[in-house]
Amino acid sequence: MKLLKNAPGNLHCCHIAEICVLCDQVADGGRICGQCRRILPWNDTFCECCGQAMMAGQPPGVVCFACQSLRPPFEKARAPLIYDFPVDAVIKAIKFRRQLWYVPAFADLLRRTLTSEFAQVDALVPVPLHRWRHMTRGFNQATELCRPLHKATGLPIMTQVDRIRATSAQTGLNTAERKRNLKNAFAVSGKLKSRHPLIVDDVITTGETCSQLAMELIRSGAKSVSVLTVARALRARQD
Ligand SMILES: [Zn+2]
Ligand SMILES: [Zn+2]
Repeated sequence: MKLLKNAPGNLHCCHIAEICVLCDQVADGGRICGQCRRILPWNDTFCECCGQAMMAGQPPGVVCFACQSLRPPFEKARAPLIYDFPVDAVIKAIKFRRQLWYVPAFADLLRRTLTSEFAQVDALVPVPLHRWRHMTRGFNQATELCRPLHKATGLPIMTQVDRIRATSAQTGLNTAERKRNLKNAFAVSGKLKSRHPLIVDDVITTGETCSQLAMELIRSGAKSVSVLTVARALRARQD
């Protein structure tokens, strides 16, 4: 225990899993302590279809206006957290500063949602990065999230999907521009080995990336496609 207390921050591994990854205090079970859990921005009230956060007090099973007017190609999307502080900071730290020790804590949350919401899925599909971005970043955060999920559930990680177009960043684009930007961005190689794939990513914003990927998976023979991300950006804040 002394060793645990003396462990420097940012040095987390399986031996010191009792230390909360967010505040460095001793955690009471799990990788995020009770106090941090209480202040995390949970996505508790959401659209049954796209998972977008909705005003508290909505009855369960309610569908947002956007999904009522146009259903997305995926069956349902879920995100346990809202893309707000400190979740946004942690996701940026993973992606842009390679602080991958946060990944198992987020994967724990994803595993819980996966078990409770997606009984039917038969494969995990990390949203692929184009090879140039993969090369510069050195890793794909979606694949990193899938690894512990695969370990915990036995679901295979599908590697048949590629990002064949180097799309520009979605930041600052409106919905129509995002759609254009992502057209034909993904391709499945060979015969799809999954009937009910689950797309996994760090954050979902407009849902356009997941929609394009879902359409490609359906074109390739998937019966239904679902989406699981760590966080859901609020509609007003789509960065
Ligand atoms: Zn904590
Ligand atoms: Zn919706």
